[in-house]
Parts: sequence; structure tokens; C-alpha cells
Amino acid sequence: MNYYSTNGQATNASLEEAVVKGLASDKGLFMPDTIKSLPYEFFENIDKLTFQEIACKVADAFFGEDIPAETLTQIVNDTLNFDVPLVPVTGNIFSLELFHGPTLAFKDVGGRFMARLLGYFIQKAGKKEVNVLVATSGDTGSAVANGFLGVEGIHVYVLYPKGKVSEIQEKQFTTLGQNITAIEVDGTFDDCQALVKSAFMDQELNDHMVLTSANSINVARFLPQSFYYFYAWAQYRKLGRMEEMVVCVPSGNFGNITAGLFAKKMGLPIKRFIAANNKNDIFYQYLQTGEYNPRPSVTTIANAMDVGDPSNFARVLALYGGSYPTIKKEITGATYTDEQIAETMKQVYKEHNYLLDPHGACGYRALEENLMPEEIGVFLETAHPAKFLDTVEGIIGDKIEIPAKLQAFMEGEKQSIEMSKDFADFKQYLMSI
Ligand SMILES: *Cc1c(COP(=O)(O)O)cnc(C)c1O
Repeated sequence: MNYYSTNGQATNASLEEAVVKGLASDKGLFMPDTIKSLPYEFFENIDKLTFQEIACKVADAFFGEDIPAETLTQIVNDTLNFDVPLVPVTGNIFSLELFHGPTLAFKDVGGRFMARLLGYFIQKAGKKEVNVLVATSGDTGSAVANGFLGVEGIHVYVLYPKGKVSEIQEKQFTTLGQNITAIEVDGTFDDCQALVKSAFMDQELNDHMVLTSANSINVARFLPQSFYYFYAWAQYRKLGRMEEMVVCVPSGNFGNITAGLFAKKMGLPIKRFIAANNKNDIFYQYLQTGEYNPRPSVTTIANAMDVGDPSNFARVLALYGGSYPTIKKEITGATYTDEQIAETMKQVYKEHNYLLDPHGACGYRALEENLMPEEIGVFLETAHPAKFLDTVEGIIGDKIEIPAKLQAFMEGEKQSIEMSKDFADFKQYLMSI
């Protein structure tokens, strides 16, 4: 399948080029040039299929032309070795729990899938070792590092700002060893990102080693996120329900919701979407006014959604031919302050005995406020509440249980390489490898 650039100035790319490059040469985002509809029988029998079987069908529609069937099945099965349960919270609101993977957040799905797909292309091309550089403010680093852990032919360098990520987050990418190296930068997240950008632009460095990025705009990271929307529907059908779902996605860079929009285009019966924002409500404002005005992000307690210029907005526009009325018909918005998020977490914990994380809380609240009485809603619970331990315990006034997976990270030994924010130092380090 061909992938075109949302900026329209680059020539079409193959899947391999799109995955290896990440971004098109005109700085646009890659989009598949066709979105295949899945047949009626698939949806009729979906409740009899496992998560892996469903994902294989969806993956085949995207990647089947470019990857041998056996390899693709293997990649899907290796990626999805954990469950994504649909849990009722109230009579008409369900939580799709995306936090049962290795780092307890939904980015595990895309991170693991991309690692395996890139590993396949590298092996096929007989390339020498490829080096993935990723700058993180916390969550992306852990999902990418754990996704790539042990994948042959790839070494990952995670750059993170010293003292600016939580201990739990830090442990998730500094304790792994093997092909993962953590680089602790004496600076901010922006400094980390600047180091990565400079590295990609430095000719001498690129002659010395093969560099690539594992940014969330990569098609191999965002497209596989469509799998769990289908699985939500399968579980819902198993309950004997037939009504179309209203799906609410706590959104930051809009990769997750875009994967859901793809699922709907493939025939999944989703009635409409709600994009839930925190105070970084650029998309919400767009829905109100028709104007897209990016602005610097502000810090909130749902910090994985602190994005001031959502990169996947370009994909949302491309999906609907840039039509504001169509986008407004498909997606409505919501925006919440930290106080509202905290209030929702407290209330749902008390009244329904369900513990939300700050991101999922935005999703829950948007459904609670917007569902019609006859509608059924599903929100994506994007991370385990224990990932935000201090915030969550402070809000609910109770101790919470830390899952064994998280505990295991906490017990690992931190290993990192200290680095200044000076590109010359980072370059010298990479040149010495
Ligand atoms: C990344 C992330 C989000 C936002 O997802 P996008 O695809 O960027 O919209 C929401 N919640 C959590 C916990 C995340 O890690």
C-alpha cells in the first residue's frame, strides 16, 4: 500500500519507507492511501473471535499487502499478549482498560507493534544496527523502551530531563539494560528533543550510524491502536448488546482517537466520538470556532495530555477532506480543569467503587455529561492509576495497590548516562559507539 503525506509535497512512500522514516520529507504525516472496509461477516461473528484474531484481521487490511501473512500474525500475537477488558462502571458507561500491558498504559500496543515491524524491515534489508533516539517527558520513553527491549538489530537511546520525571516513570526505562540505554540530560524535555533533532540533522553522525525515531506520528505506532476499538465492540456484543457505541477518548496528540476514526471508516459501528481534553483544549476550541489555534501547553494532573499543538490533527483533517462540518458531526469535544478531574475521580471512586486515573477521568466525565439516556458509552482508560500514585492517593485520600509489574520496575537498579544539554557532548558520545 502507498502512504501519502498530509502536506502533499512529498512523493508517496512504501510501508517500509514510512516506518523507517517516520515523517515525510515535506514534514507531513504519512497516511495510507486506501482504508479497506471489513466484510459484514467479520462483524457478525466478531464476538466469537479472540483479541489476537480480531487484530490479525484488522492488521491484514492495513499491512497485508506488504508483510507476509505468517510474519504479520507473529507480530500481532507478540504485541498483544495481554488483555484489554471492557469493564462496566455504571449502567451505560463502560471502561476499556488499556493498562494491562508491560508499562501499564495504552502506548504499549503501538510501541510493541512498531518495534517488531521495524525489526522485520531491518532484518529483511540486511541493514546494520539501527539506533532509535527518543526524547521523553515520561510515558513515551517507557512504552518505546519496553516495546523494543530485546528486539534484534535495534538499540534504543531514551533521552529524559534529569529530575523532571517521576521515580516510577524513570525506573521503567532506566532498569532494563540489554539494548536500551537511558540518557539523563541536565536540562528540560525541550532540550532533550532539541538534542534528538540535531542528531538527525548532523551529517557526520548519520554517516557514522543509522538513526531513526520512534515518535508517535509513526504509522506503525498509531495504526495498531485501532485494534482495541474492534475488541471493545466484540466484548460488547458478547453482552448481547447491539446499540452503536459512543466512544470517548482522552486526547493529547490525537493519535489514539485517530486510530478510532480509522476503525469507524473500516465499518466498526461507532455512533460518534468524544475527544476529552484537559485545559490544553486546542481541539475543543477548534470545534467551537472552526479555527485551529495552537498555543503553548500548560501543566495539568493529566500530564500525558498536555499538548499545545496536537500533531495528529493533520490526520483528522485528511480523513475528512478538511471539512469542518464533517469533523463536527463525527467528533464532539469536552474540556476539564484539574479541579473537575479530581472531583470526578473522587466521585466515581465513592459511588461506583471504580478507580480512575486523571486521563480516564476526563473520558468518564465527558460521557456522563454528554450521553443521551438511551445511549451507551465506552471511554478509554489509558493508564493504570498507580502510574500517578501521589496524585491519585492525594485525591481519593486512600492508599492504592501497586500492581506487581510496576513493583518489579521499582525494585530494578537505575542505570543511566549523564549528559549535558550541549549537542557537542551528545554527538561525541554517539560517535564513540
Ligand atoms: C499518550 C497518552 C494520552 C494521549 O493520547 P494521544 O494519542 O496523544 O491523544 C492519554 N492518556 C495517557 C495515559 C497517555 O499516556
